[in-house]
Amino acid sequence: MHGRKAACTLRGGWNRLQLRRATKAVAAVFHEVGKPLELQEIPLPDKLNEGELLVRMEVATICGSDLHTVSGKRQEPMPLVLGHEGVGVIERIGSDIFSGNRPRHRGWKLQEGDRVTFSVADSCGLCPECTLHKLPQKCVSLMKYGHSRISEGSGLNGTYASHILLRPGTHAVKLPNQLSSRVCAPANCALATVVNALDMARLPRYGANKSAVVQGVGLLGIYAVAWLRKRVGMDSVFCLDTDAERLKTAKRFGGIPLLVTGDDQDVLERSRTIREMYPRGVDVAVEMTGAKHVIHEGVQLLRNGGHYSFTGMVHPDSQLSSLTGETIIRKCLTIRGVHNYTPWNLEEAVKFLDEFREELPLESVLSPTSYRLSQINEAFQQAHTGSYCRVVVDCQNI
Ligand SMILES: [Zn+2]
Ligand SMILES: [Zn+2]
Repeated sequence: MHGRKAACTLRGGWNRLQLRRATKAVAAVFHEVGKPLELQEIPLPDKLNEGELLVRMEVATICGSDLHTVSGKRQEPMPLVLGHEGVGVIERIGSDIFSGNRPRHRGWKLQEGDRVTFSVADSCGLCPECTLHKLPQKCVSLMKYGHSRISEGSGLNGTYASHILLRPGTHAVKLPNQLSSRVCAPANCALATVVNALDMARLPRYGANKSAVVQGVGLLGIYAVAWLRKRVGMDSVFCLDTDAERLKTAKRFGGIPLLVTGDDQDVLERSRTIREMYPRGVDVAVEMTGAKHVIHEGVQLLRNGGHYSFTGMVHPDSQLSSLTGETIIRKCLTIRGVHNYTPWNLEEAVKFLDEFREELPLESVLSPTSYRLSQINEAFQQAHTGSYCRVVVDCQNI
């Protein structure tokens, strides 16, 4: 209900125009499957609650999950402002106590004017998931940006908008000046999830950790290659995908491309190639395809004591009939399911981008042009073609 009163009490002339600019956001609202997104004005809150951040969005990127939503493969509470990936500048920080630049829960260093990325989930910070289990992304009262109905809170719950209102339990990370907003936009979904999936502390503790297989090189897979090569320091990261173009990109990030054509001979050849270099199998496998049938090959390629990270199969059609308990036991495997990420993974993601920004072709995964917010439907069309890992939306250019 924030701000609606203020928007209604505006009076006359030039002042009115100035005030209008300051009191309303413009958001691309998704009403129903098969209908284009519509730009709509939403009142900005006149007063923020303690710990809230009003962020003026700079850029947003279109994630695969949004493509699933608009095409009806995924259900969201409609109408809503879609979009969860993005970067913006803090316009206001909510506080009932202080004036000026105020402290904020888990983000006391933040100030108005800071350019930030933020976690896709808002968590309470108090429940067992948030505290004891260290899984704030599984909070009992979780709210996820880009997945909440417009009638919830201020309505400014997604990144395809001029503004977003971040709740007090949302982790925001200030971005280094030298990193562009475009390059940072997918960090709060794709890259942070990869950082979680390949958390250094979870990878095998014994052995060299020099080799991996990445199954599926969409943006998560590409970032996984980069992370394994640069952060973990692996010598060989084999990339398996059916798309030759994606494999080219993965190669530029340091991967060894292996095309998947779908026949059994193909599987044998891949295994031979990998085992020529690593006769006992690779240390780590990452599933980022969403397809359950790839698990068999991943397990075969792992060495004894290897680590398998499941990241892509976030849907019900993921029954693992090809995997036996016996295999897991006899190979002494660790299998870890990963969903979203924690605030500290997001911090790591930003650090990673900053450290390797000159060595990695980070711009190459993005559409070369940024679409205006009013061109959001064209941007979605472009994203559907799959020519770029991410299509970029310029949220201030309406
Ligand atoms: Zn995403
Ligand atoms: Zn919680």
